[in-house]
Amino acid sequence: MNVRKYVFDFEEGDGKNKMLLGGKGANLCEMTQIGLNVPPGFTISTDACLSYLDQHQLPDGLMNEIKAHMTALEKKTGKGFGSDSNPLLVSVRSGSSMSMPGMMDTILNLGLNENSLKGLIKQTKDERFVYDTYRRFIQLFGKIALGISDEVFDEKMHAIKKKHRAKEDVDLAAAHLKELANEFLAIVQRHTSKPFPQDPYEQLEIAVQAVFRSWMGKRAVDYRRQFRITKEMANGTAVSVCTMVFGNMGDDSGTGVGFTRNPGTGENQIFGEYLVNAQGEDVVAGIRTPKPIAEMEIEMPEIYRQLMELHNRLESHYHEVQDFEFTIEKGILYCLQTRNGKMNARGMVRTSVELFDEGLITKEQALLRIDPALLEQLLVPQLSPSFRGKSLTQGLPASPGAASGKIVFDADTAEARGIKGEKVILVREETKPEDIHGFFQAQGILTSRGGKTSHAAVVARGMGKPCVSGCEHIVIDVNARRAIIGNTTLHEGDVITIDGGTGHVYAGEVPTVEAEVSEELITLLKWADQYARLKVMANADAPEDAAKARAFGAMGIGLCRTERMFNGTDRLPIVQEMILAETSEERQAALDRLLPIQRADFKGIFKAMKGLPVTVRLLDPPMHEFLPTASQLELEIAHLHHLRDTIKGLEELPETLKLLNPRLYQQYADGLVKLMDSLHTFKTSHLEEDAITKKEKVLKKVRALSEVNPMLGHRGVRLGITYPEIYSMQIQAILEAAALCAKEGIEIYPEIMVPQVATVEELARIHSYVERIHKVVELTHGISVRFKFGSMLEVVRACMRSGRMAQIAEFFSFGTNDLTQATFSFSREDAENKFLPAYNETGILKDNPFEVLDVLGVGQVMKIAVDNGRKTRPDLKIGICGEHGGHPASIHFCHHIGLNYVSCSGPRVPIARLAAAQAKLLEDTYTTELY
Ligand code: PEP
Ligand code: MG
Repeated sequence: MNVRKYVFDFEEGDGKNKMLLGGKGANLCEMTQIGLNVPPGFTISTDACLSYLDQHQLPDGLMNEIKAHMTALEKKTGKGFGSDSNPLLVSVRSGSSMSMPGMMDTILNLGLNENSLKGLIKQTKDERFVYDTYRRFIQLFGKIALGISDEVFDEKMHAIKKKHRAKEDVDLAAAHLKELANEFLAIVQRHTSKPFPQDPYEQLEIAVQAVFRSWMGKRAVDYRRQFRITKEMANGTAVSVCTMVFGNMGDDSGTGVGFTRNPGTGENQIFGEYLVNAQGEDVVAGIRTPKPIAEMEIEMPEIYRQLMELHNRLESHYHEVQDFEFTIEKGILYCLQTRNGKMNARGMVRTSVELFDEGLITKEQALLRIDPALLEQLLVPQLSPSFRGKSLTQGLPASPGAASGKIVFDADTAEARGIKGEKVILVREETKPEDIHGFFQAQGILTSRGGKTSHAAVVARGMGKPCVSGCEHIVIDVNARRAIIGNTTLHEGDVITIDGGTGHVYAGEVPTVEAEVSEELITLLKWADQYARLKVMANADAPEDAAKARAFGAMGIGLCRTERMFNGTDRLPIVQEMILAETSEERQAALDRLLPIQRADFKGIFKAMKGLPVTVRLLDPPMHEFLPTASQLELEIAHLHHLRDTIKGLEELPETLKLLNPRLYQQYADGLVKLMDSLHTFKTSHLEEDAITKKEKVLKKVRALSEVNPMLGHRGVRLGITYPEIYSMQIQAILEAAALCAKEGIEIYPEIMVPQVATVEELARIHSYVERIHKVVELTHGISVRFKFGSMLEVVRACMRSGRMAQIAEFFSFGTNDLTQATFSFSREDAENKFLPAYNETGILKDNPFEVLDVLGVGQVMKIAVDNGRKTRPDLKIGICGEHGGHPASIHFCHHIGLNYVSCSGPRVPIARLAAAQAKLLEDTYTTELY
């Protein structure tokens, strides 16, 4: 005896139990139970599916249970299953607890046979529609339940169309469709050696089994693997059997789809389309153009009233914008499906604020219903949503936003053209710190090498400019001023568009839509700040960037990379002088000239961030980054030598000509004398000699500074130890800027941060410089200067020694770009476009660790550092300033291990603010798999 219950009427099924009834089944039950007009039906549970898959047969008694529910359904609807007067037709729909669109099978109009189609013709008085439905049903049933391929049916359709000279399916008349249905029945007979099942219960039994089997179909299995849907998330499919309703039963019938609010703007107004006297398929096939729902108020006022009632009930029950489907059969509105509406960022933000104002959701729900990453759409320009063009190539989406401009191949040209008001995209193999002036003028940056934490990516993000990096299909020839992508050659001056959100590169100008910070977004983010425990700082290197970040709601600067200041066109020559200095006096002279410049920079940033903390990092990159490359210098020197040889050759010209052709010599004698004079003047100026000597000196230095692994070489604190005068100048500039601001009454909170620290002794050494200079500054300026001293944690050893580090450091900031590189031993410049894609595709790594914090490895190192640091200094301030500081899932982890703040590029600040609030709201449910 079957004691187990497998079948649940929509009136009785538990609308919350998606594991048992599938998403669709549970939803149909819930809608029925809250009184929405859902066509009656029942759901067969996933338990029945699992039993069928296990035993290869339907569980004992299941068909009897189904029959009992069908009988009840007949009573409820007053229709008969297989009846020739008032037939009951049903849809048999799959649905598991996780939405897997199109992955499993669904059969419509089940119950149609030679008998019931007569009944349907009587009812609809539309023979053509009925035979069309019948032939569709035979094909769908044949394919899904009996395994006959679509092609066999399609061939026959093609033949019938040809025979009756019909161009489109809609040109076939009722008689043609009847003929087609008979042909389809014959196909079934041929392929199964049995007639098409005419008994509706036999149809139903076969269909239920087919839907169950589709759970293990290749499509569904692949989909679950791809989207990592585990058995705990979805186990088996349920089958919902639902009475068919028809929207093509006259002018009081129809079909449509709707959103309870406008999904594009969020406006509280029903939004959607409908068609009178039509089936859902007509909308999809585009045979007729649907009308906006607003017109229904005039055309079908009573239905419109029912629709508005449906709208209100949906929102008041689900407390969420709904996307629903409806059919009107003879003046009665049925809701066939509803789900949470997918909206763009604008729509989500506006509805969050308005649903709260209307009392439908709480502030917590308003904050939790938005995916923070979605906000990016509002914060940087985007490609026009209507644009459908094909891209030339795709690189890494390194800094979001879309921009168009003329291609330029070097920073100087970018600067020159940009200043003239031209829009340019800087296209380089990779960028270097000395390209910074080109960044300022460019609309966007495109590189053929480098990852998402490459120089180009990080600088562009800091400036809020779009960047596509690591676009390896582009071959750039700077000398020929052209770039080749497959068969396309682009020249300097050609217009391209880059989309830093997707990594696509397009030829020509693509229309874009501007960023917009609405009142609703401001409100929402204020709410976020009320909940968040983590503070959100910005990475910014210049006063303008700091001001922009503040406008995005940054609560301070978490990372100011001072090397960016060294790269301005007015500073680079002095920096180079400092590097090339032969003696410490020479170096000091260059530093003395840099000091006032740096001091002014810091003052500018402190002012822009008055009242908020500003963390300034001492110089980090290796010195050679401020010098030209060896190959560039070699090329220039070779050119100069060539020039010298050419001059020598020209000097011999008069004598040679005299010898070869005295008459010609006479003819040109005057000109030749003038030329010789000019050559003499040029030679005595020693211009090219001096240039060669200078460049050779630089080349010597470049060679001396060259390192096999510069990222692991002479940089960061190592520079500060070997060139104490450089760090001393920077420390002096920071503290003097602070003293000057304090004198002007500007409230400032400066923090000095040391990069690349590995040992406590390194930190102690720099701390000693700071203490010494601090005393001098206070004495000379006659004012007390408050500041904090701290360390980056981006070297694994420093993390492991954090307990001791915290005796000196008042704060830590995790540099997770370098820490990820160090923990994985993956070069951050190369990994992303060399082997990481293969790692991600083949499942060795789930995510790109330079983008998504690797909580299992890097995260554990961080946790040890936090715990040990706080043991020494319980009030230790700890943050993160690597790129992960703006990544929502990584922010959850930062909250979880007790960081005080995250720091990210300006335009990501709003995203981080929302993510920080969500991290707090979801902290009790936060889990990471650690094994
Ligand atoms: C880091 O390593 O995470 C960091 C912020 O420093 P940079 O990216 O400048 O090396
Ligand atoms: Mg670093």
